[in-house]
Amino acid sequence: MDKVIKDLLDTYKVTKQTRDFLSKPLGMYIDGKFVSGNANETLDVMEPSTGKHLAQIARGNEQDINDAVSSAKQAFEGEWAAYKPRAREQVMRKISDLIRENLQTIAELECLDSGKAISGCKAVDIAGAANVWEYFAGWATKISGSTRDTSMPGEYFTYTQKEPVGVVGAIVPWNWPFAMATWKLAAPLAAGCTVVLKPAELTSLSMLYFMTLCEQAGLPKGVINIVTGKGSIVGTALSTHPDIAKVSFTGSTEVGKLIGKNIADDIKHVTLELGGKSPMIAFNDADTDALARATLGSIYFNAGQVCSAGSRLYVQRGVYDEVVEKIKKIAESIKLGTGLDPQTQMGPVISKAQQQSIMNYIEIGKKEGARLVTGGYALEQDGFFIKPTLFADTTNDMRIVQEEIFGPVLVMQVFDTEDEVVALANDNEFGLASSIWTQDVSRVHRMVPQIKAGNVWVNIHDPGDPNMAFGGVKHSGVGKDLGPEQLEHYLESKTVWINIGAKND
Ligand code: NAD
Repeated sequence: MDKVIKDLLDTYKVTKQTRDFLSKPLGMYIDGKFVSGNANETLDVMEPSTGKHLAQIARGNEQDINDAVSSAKQAFEGEWAAYKPRAREQVMRKISDLIRENLQTIAELECLDSGKAISGCKAVDIAGAANVWEYFAGWATKISGSTRDTSMPGEYFTYTQKEPVGVVGAIVPWNWPFAMATWKLAAPLAAGCTVVLKPAELTSLSMLYFMTLCEQAGLPKGVINIVTGKGSIVGTALSTHPDIAKVSFTGSTEVGKLIGKNIADDIKHVTLELGGKSPMIAFNDADTDALARATLGSIYFNAGQVCSAGSRLYVQRGVYDEVVEKIKKIAESIKLGTGLDPQTQMGPVISKAQQQSIMNYIEIGKKEGARLVTGGYALEQDGFFIKPTLFADTTNDMRIVQEEIFGPVLVMQVFDTEDEVVALANDNEFGLASSIWTQDVSRVHRMVPQIKAGNVWVNIHDPGDPNMAFGGVKHSGVGKDLGPEQLEHYLESKTVWINIGAKND
């Protein structure tokens, strides 16, 4: 192990479980066991706050996907199909309990792998994931079809029954590795599906550790398989595999479009949770302190690598200057540091490439004539840190206003009227989330139907609960994760007509 990483583990007194896990070769998880993969190749994993080598993961290939899908298919038709709803609920509840018991270790692995600040990671990512498992465990026993009345002449017994769609191929990004994977696993398992999941190549560790917990929980082999590796190889093989009934993808709009094209011939079910450039809209009567504080949980959370981050801020003229000053103060107070430090509020971004991409956007913003209020630079030290950045006085034709930067960069501009700001907010290819900041209830009710986004929040940005569906419109995707809406995506509704009119006596 790299000396710098070893020092990091010592300084922050990471658990024995984390050290033990990192000291072993990390294979993929296929058919109930860790395997090194058919090609026996590996990928290096870097720790983002130091840029040093952290671990190696297996580099999967098409044959590994074939093995994993075959195992998932066998489980779907065999052992998992024999699990009654209560048995599914019980094993899922056990998984939820084990996540809570192992919260510290999962969070440490997640922070080392992704750079996340551990305080937020524990409270939001990992504790939230346990809640999602618990929530969908409860749904396993509540899936039902319905009897229907018809007007067709004759006598019939007519009903619908719900059946799991089959083997699911799930592909997730690096910004919420454990949380997004959980969102892709719990609902299909409740529905009776089995899953092959591909984590992002930059952040596979927490999901591999998670499989040790699934073993402890007694989850039958094949119900969840994890294949690590490159998206272009493993992701393509998974999404196009003929035995995959549904593809559930979270990631960039670019890859989402590619997946949509790849699966078109097979007519697979699909959910796409894609990028965003979500507006926050603040009127003169807004609580500007609460609004400024909300940036900590939004654009400045997880170093801005949040799909639903409020990354565009529109502020009415009367409070615009005041809001610029309040957010500047907050941005400048944010403590940057390594993810493992409990005092850290913002960790590094995920990689050198991501740091360069964000810096490139900052340069574009300057050239486009936006006013750089604070930040705008990378820290000159090891690791991939970027100072929380605020651009003011932007206009909607700027690239920094239209494109997803996926970093701690907030762009803000002034508006005068409600109609004007609705048009500005909707003038974007994405439609994932939005928030409206006002005390005027009538205004809220006028605006909610007009905002083209899958989520509209009022006087808060980015709340979450397993019972509240999350998903986008326009280029932010199709379908929902969480809530009863997500469960429906993993169920086929079979329509049954039984002719009971004919008597044979
Ligand atoms: P990405 O699209 O580059 O990668 C996502 C996943 O897809 C990774 O596992 C990757 O290996 C895989 N992949 C890459 N090429 C593939 C291919 N050709 N076929 C199949 N799979 C392939 O995204 P990223 O950079 O990891 O994540 C950031 C993006 O994710 C941002 O755009 C962000 O907004 C989005 N995101 C959306 C949500 C949401 O709920 N809407 C949540 C989190 C992140």
